[in-house]
Amino acid sequence: MIRVQNLKKSFGSVEVLKDINLTVKQGEVVVLIGASGSGKSTLIRCINFLEMKDAGEIVIEGKSINPKKDDLTKVRQTVGMVFQHFNLFPHKSVLENVMEAPMIVKKTSREEAKKEALHLLAKVGLVDKANMYPSSLSGGQKQRVAIARSLAMKPDIMLFDEPTSALDPELVGEVLETMKQLAREGMTMIIVTHEMGFAKEVADWVAFMHQGKIIELAPPAEIFNNPKEERTREFLNRVL
Ligand code: ADP
Ligand code: MG
Repeated sequence: MIRVQNLKKSFGSVEVLKDINLTVKQGEVVVLIGASGSGKSTLIRCINFLEMKDAGEIVIEGKSINPKKDDLTKVRQTVGMVFQHFNLFPHKSVLENVMEAPMIVKKTSREEAKKEALHLLAKVGLVDKANMYPSSLSGGQKQRVAIARSLAMKPDIMLFDEPTSALDPELVGEVLETMKQLAREGMTMIIVTHEMGFAKEVADWVAFMHQGKIIELAPPAEIFNNPKEERTREFLNRVL
């Protein structure tokens, strides 16, 4: 589904991604861990072309994407993204938030968009909030709406950048549960998170990033119980 090859990215003179290689197969969940500033956000933003790579290749569903030639709106339909801050439209209802993108970008009919939005809201457990405005929702509910909104574009791949980091602790679980459900349904996902329990339970692969490189990539049991790299061990000792 995703193949990142020899990816490099600098901001000014600072090389933030140094020769990143990562392959994600259909239905796999990859959790990216690493210290703040190690390049996790930049990596997933490059995969979604919110940031433009300097070198290397990004292959999505077998197609090497050329940002100068290819339609990046299409790529971003295939690769959905959920951020730490949900950025829902405040002046639109929950239902309208989820209906908006398919209607504008895909020209889906209002009727069809509504049907699909209600289905997705049911799936994230918020169909009863359809007519409410984001301001009346909890942070966890807002993030679940943001996930439904992203799913409304029918992506094949979902990227999550610290989706629970801005939430009060008691609201983290409901968002993780929604993501677990997506994993069970076979969604291909790359997730940046500090929720190590979630990583252990849900990830097929855990990638540890350090100073712009993937230092170690292994199944969670291996990374957490028997990390090969000293820097992985140091990081885990600090966060676990
Ligand atoms: P992480 O998500 O792991 O915390 P980031 O990918 O956000 O790391 O950042 C990696 C490095 O790139 C950091 O040193 C950060 O300051 C820098 N960086 C990220 N985005 C930009 C930007 N738009 N302009 C300049 N530097 C940036
Ligand atoms: Mg980040």
